[in-house]
Amino acid sequence: MKNFDIDKIRADFPILKRQVNGKPLIYLDNGATTQKPSKVIDAIVSYYSDMNSNIHRGVHYLSQISTDAFEVARRKVQSFINASHEYEVIITNGTTHSINLVASCYGKAFVHAGDEIVISAMEHHSNIVPWQMLCEEKGAKLKVIPMDEQGVLDIEVYKELLSDRTKIVSITYVSNALGTINPVKEIIRLAHERNVPVLLDAAQAVQHLKIDVQELDVDFLAFSGHKMYGPTGVGVLYGKEKWLNAMPPYQGGGDMIKEVTFEKTTYNELPLKFEAGTPNIEAGICLANAIDYIEEIGLDQIKAYEDELLNYATTRLAEVEGIKFIGTSGQKSSVISFVIEGVHPYDVGVILDKLGIAVRTGHHCAQPVMDQFRISGTVRASLAMYNTKEEVDSLVDGVKRAVNMLK
Ligand SMILES: *Cc1c(COP(=O)(O)O)cnc(C)c1O
Repeated sequence: MKNFDIDKIRADFPILKRQVNGKPLIYLDNGATTQKPSKVIDAIVSYYSDMNSNIHRGVHYLSQISTDAFEVARRKVQSFINASHEYEVIITNGTTHSINLVASCYGKAFVHAGDEIVISAMEHHSNIVPWQMLCEEKGAKLKVIPMDEQGVLDIEVYKELLSDRTKIVSITYVSNALGTINPVKEIIRLAHERNVPVLLDAAQAVQHLKIDVQELDVDFLAFSGHKMYGPTGVGVLYGKEKWLNAMPPYQGGGDMIKEVTFEKTTYNELPLKFEAGTPNIEAGICLANAIDYIEEIGLDQIKAYEDELLNYATTRLAEVEGIKFIGTSGQKSSVISFVIEGVHPYDVGVILDKLGIAVRTGHHCAQPVMDQFRISGTVRASLAMYNTKEEVDSLVDGVKRAVNMLK
């Protein structure tokens, strides 16, 4: 592929040189978290060596340069997702934090007894539980868009679920358990016909697909730094200005206030209104380095490479006797979930680990998905831009070996 130098990319990730259990590491658990390029690791070290200081408060030099770097990162996120305004980008701790923020604050302002919230059958627990908690508190109802045996959402049922009682639709862009890419543009369009806002959980999307929030016309977008080659402890909530302004603050504390007296506190403007307390400063700043890294290689290139790898891995794994793929939508991204007849996923994971191969086994924080397929869990190999066909070959050999040992 033009300009996609896999050897150079692999060399950018120091951890890929290490061994695990005496074997070269083959890291296929990118859906849980990705590895970090030197560019990000070095930036973290350099933050603490050169500019460590609290932000948005000090008049002194270090505080100014760290504040500037944090705000540069915010603008970098803004351009990465093409938001209209930088103050529509709220820096959070991650996707879970971002979704809880919306459930809590949008919920306070707009959700009442008898209202309905629409999610889907393939959501991560982070996009189920906050809405359940809200429904319990308000006496609202959770409605779930069903999916078929391929792991494809039923849009006809979705249309019927939307009603005057619907207050928000909150859907994953890409399923972490199945790999399905949902038709989010259509989902958003249908919700907007009824003036219902849509939140997209983009935790598994931003690192694989180019996202333009204005083009999608999405109301809220949530994602995590650590799944897009950036640091842990930082994430993003994008929200349209009109919604963010209409919502009360999330937590109270420093940074989110304008003036505090014991009688009354006035709140800061966007985005700080939603950023109480000292954030994870170095992670916020170094998220910019992760975005730079992705943009240098280019999401188009990354997607083309990963799609090819996904096809290759799917074809090769199909050789394994008794394998059943969970999630067989025609629109998929970088996730292969499977079970093998008569073999427990956990045992496969343990044997692969002995071979230096990291996969995830279990329910992947999506228990309702497992329930629908009547399984307790899957083996999940999730790909990133630094994975190779040779690694996929080792995975296939390892899985075959595991099946021989376990059957
Ligand atoms: C990982 C993930 C989350 C939660 O992200 P955190 O970084 O753990 O907050 C939510 N949704 C999906 C689809 C995910 O893959």
